[in-house]
Amino acid sequence: AQGIDRFRLARSHFFYMSHDKDTMTTFQELGLSAGTLEALESKGFESPTPIQERTIPLLLQGNIDIVGQAQTGTGKTAAFGLPIIETVQEKGGRVQALILTPTRELAIQVADEINSLKGNKRIRIIPVYGGQAIHMQFKALKRGVDVIVGTPGRIMDHMKRGTLKLDQLDFFVLDEADEMCNMGFVDDVREILASANTDRRTLLFSATMPREVMRIATEFMRDYETVTVKTTKN
Ligand code: ADP
Ligand code: MG
Repeated sequence: AQGIDRFRLARSHFFYMSHDKDTMTTFQELGLSAGTLEALESKGFESPTPIQERTIPLLLQGNIDIVGQAQTGTGKTAAFGLPIIETVQEKGGRVQALILTPTRELAIQVADEINSLKGNKRIRIIPVYGGQAIHMQFKALKRGVDVIVGTPGRIMDHMKRGTLKLDQLDFFVLDEADEMCNMGFVDDVREILASANTDRRTLLFSATMPREVMRIATEFMRDYETVTVKTTKN
């Protein structure tokens, strides 16, 4: 079944790329649900950014891994956040997506952004970072969380205490992978990647692709599609 999926994906990707680039793509054309389109409208997002335009259809259509490279400020959060919102099940009873970010500020920001895009969908998205009272995190995790946005150190801490299980993920996202390496989290990141279930989709987003980041991609990701957006902020 995976082979067929990939074939369909390759074809749709081809047709997608051959679109006339002068015609503006809409969020609706990317295949998002009515509820998400409403959330986008109330947030004031009128049309997708280039990285969103290219990654969202790929993630909605197939069981695929993606390495996305685009500068800061180009909308990478919604590029992975929207497909996650569409995929996560209400009352799933497990952590369905883990997003690793290099700093607590980013964890909060990414969790806020995804929360603001989830519309009426009843899913819980929380940031989990060091410096936050750990007993409050125990409580939140016990109540059940669908999507976690965390910093590597604190996620490792919960894994070791047994308060967080990453054995049923649908998505594992590395956000700002280059920054995570720069900040010295590469060993933690690798350990977390290695202990999560392998039948997940892994998405890696980064502004730059140093060798250390490429090595993570080749070691921990299946065949992946690379989406590169050159600086075309207008
Ligand atoms: P990156 O992760 O690439 O640095 P962000 O996801 O943080 O970028 O997005 C940068 C800013 O652009 C955020 O304030 C976000 O809400 C906004 N943004 C993202 N996508 C859109 C869009 N399609 N239309 C308008 N604003 C957007
Ligand atoms: Mg970002």
